[in-house]
Amino acid sequence: MSRHQGIGMTSQRTHDRLITRLEREGISSQEVLEAMRATPRHIFVDEALASRAYEDSALPIGYGQTISQPYIVARMTEALLMSGPLTKVLEIGTGSGYQAAILSLLVKEVYSVERIEGLLKQARARFETLKLRNIRLKFDDGTEGWSQYGPYDGIIATAAPVEVPMPLLEQLNIGGRLIIPIGKQGMQRLMLYTRTHEGVEEAFIEQVSFVPMLSGQKT
Ligand code: SAH
Repeated sequence: MSRHQGIGMTSQRTHDRLITRLEREGISSQEVLEAMRATPRHIFVDEALASRAYEDSALPIGYGQTISQPYIVARMTEALLMSGPLTKVLEIGTGSGYQAAILSLLVKEVYSVERIEGLLKQARARFETLKLRNIRLKFDDGTEGWSQYGPYDGIIATAAPVEVPMPLLEQLNIGGRLIIPIGKQGMQRLMLYTRTHEGVEEAFIEQVSFVPMLSGQKT
């Protein structure tokens, strides 16, 4: 059996249990829960870690990076979609590709930028395996956003800068939402910035722990 086809009955049960747990922890968007149920997280981690893929924890993906914790993925996705359906979403920090895969089931077009080429290649292969065809990837430093396809209805950053990168706010539509962890490692705040006609509104979501947003590219 290929990895894609299944990980056995036990893991199917642990996957279901994870979704139930997310719901209990306050994720109320049924469309987000369904997208997470439909996305095999074990495809996004190394085979050696596949048995832990349905735990609600971040896991290493190489290069000193991690696949985000399912609860945080759900929370960020829910916060992004709260204002209604979105057409174009940009992600900064493709990593394993898991967050982008979830988004691809919920919005029309997903754009994602990653600064580590090795991770980007693996993510691309996973999207092909899963036949996710509405994700466009770019190898670059995402602190500049991706102006070519902007403005976006929503932007999600899955690595934490110390301050909000201005290009990300500038690449939002009016009414567009930026979900981003801000701050030094160990003390970050997950924030929601909404672009308005007058400027930008901000709201605190919760305390989080992400890898830092770094500048430059790495092959
Ligand atoms: N969304 C990912 C999370 C990966 S961890 C997932 O679901 O697996 C965060 C990722 O952000 C890492 O892969 C890291 O290399 C990337 N990153 C950090 N700084 C970045 C930057 N300036 N531009 C693009 N990607 C960045």
